[in-house]
Amino acid sequence: MELAGKKTLVVGLGKSGIAAAGFLRARGAHVIANDAQPEEKIAAAAQLKEQGIELVAGSHPISLFENVDLIVASPGVPLALECFQRAKTAGVPIISEIELAARFLRGRLVGITGSNGKTTTTTLIGKVLKNAGLPAQVGGNIGTPLISLVETSSDDGFTVIELSSFQLEAVESLHLFAAVLLNITPDHLDRYDSMDAYAAAKANIFRNQTSEDLAVLNADDTRVAAMTTNAHKTFFSCKRELEEGLFLRGDEVVARANGVERTLISRPEIGIRGAHNLENVMATLAVGLACGAGPDSMRHTIHEFKGVEHRLEFVVEINGVKFYNDSKATNVDSTIKALEAFDSGVIVILGGKDKGGDYAPLVPLIQSRCEHVILIGAAANKIATALENTKPLQRATTMPDAVRLGYELARAGDVVLLAPACASFDMFDNYEHRGRVFKDAVRQLRIEH
Ligand code: ADP
Repeated sequence: MELAGKKTLVVGLGKSGIAAAGFLRARGAHVIANDAQPEEKIAAAAQLKEQGIELVAGSHPISLFENVDLIVASPGVPLALECFQRAKTAGVPIISEIELAARFLRGRLVGITGSNGKTTTTTLIGKVLKNAGLPAQVGGNIGTPLISLVETSSDDGFTVIELSSFQLEAVESLHLFAAVLLNITPDHLDRYDSMDAYAAAKANIFRNQTSEDLAVLNADDTRVAAMTTNAHKTFFSCKRELEEGLFLRGDEVVARANGVERTLISRPEIGIRGAHNLENVMATLAVGLACGAGPDSMRHTIHEFKGVEHRLEFVVEINGVKFYNDSKATNVDSTIKALEAFDSGVIVILGGKDKGGDYAPLVPLIQSRCEHVILIGAAANKIATALENTKPLQRATTMPDAVRLGYELARAGDVVLLAPACASFDMFDNYEHRGRVFKDAVRQLRIEH
């Protein structure tokens, strides 16, 4: 794809839009950066102009959209806007930042998607490859825009990419050497028409793969296990032994290929808690083996890995009560996984902004593992209705109140777990903010006790 001299338009000036504009400019394109926000609100305005990028802020003038050679649209901007429709009619290609990156990245690409576990698995795969001495870089949905990894990509290296379903909807050229699909559980049903539409977006991860490539699939997830792909499939399972693939035998993770078995790691050696993290570890091992990482090096890295902040993160223990921050549990399935990681004595903090999910699947675990439920946020009533007649339900208006109440209700040996099953935007800027407020409240409590 030749960019020099092309007239390009980047719409939406978040992190990835800014990176895309810089990339296009560096490749010699004429770049117009556009956002509906006024210029004062665009933090990178000066930086963009310094690079020789033209800034059009405050609206989306239709004439701009009809008179360029290429539009790069950020995931946040609605493609239903009239300006995009007019661009389409005028025959202007509209692509995403990920698609742009996919056209230029060198070397082998590893992609990870799923409803839950993407960031944990992406981070772990990146560490496993790097510690094995392989050239590897990590980006995508995890934070670093993929386009900013193009310059550092090399023919003999790996780029490990976290991919959300929204990003996957908008890819055409992405060709992954290894594609991991961890799970498909209800999430974002406020944005998709149906589970099938959501699953179809996830399945786009296999697009362009050939029999030379690898698809790593969760055999325990029926939707995932039924996926069709041209790639060579490797399954993993925590529930049963497989003819081919990775599975658990007793405490050991075994890989079986062509009838030959080898033990890769045992459960006590894994630094992160819960069966869900075992799935993330198995997926990582499958990718690591395919990329040529040595088993000893992988075992060491997985042993040392303490997880990612806000994912079942241990905070502190106060007089025998342990506090865990799983603020990233923004849907029902991730809360189920968090509860499953503890045997009993859990006081769970639930609630936030409802995402259209059903809370009833929580009932058995609330009954078997929890002592109390503390409800916060806008979804509190809906959750209370679903959890009626399970365990005592209490309300709290702020996170510090919820933390204090959790501690008062707990006995030594119990766990106070923030795993809200909801988005955070009713009370917080984002899940990181919610997790930090929780941890600050816990630390304050420790000072008081
Ligand atoms: P994502 O990037 O897909 O949101 P994270 O690794 O950030 O995934 O984890 C999100 C939430 O899901 C956390 O609450 C975490 O504890 C939980 N989780 C992590 N891995 C899995 C998994 N394989 N299955 C289900 N839940 C998971």
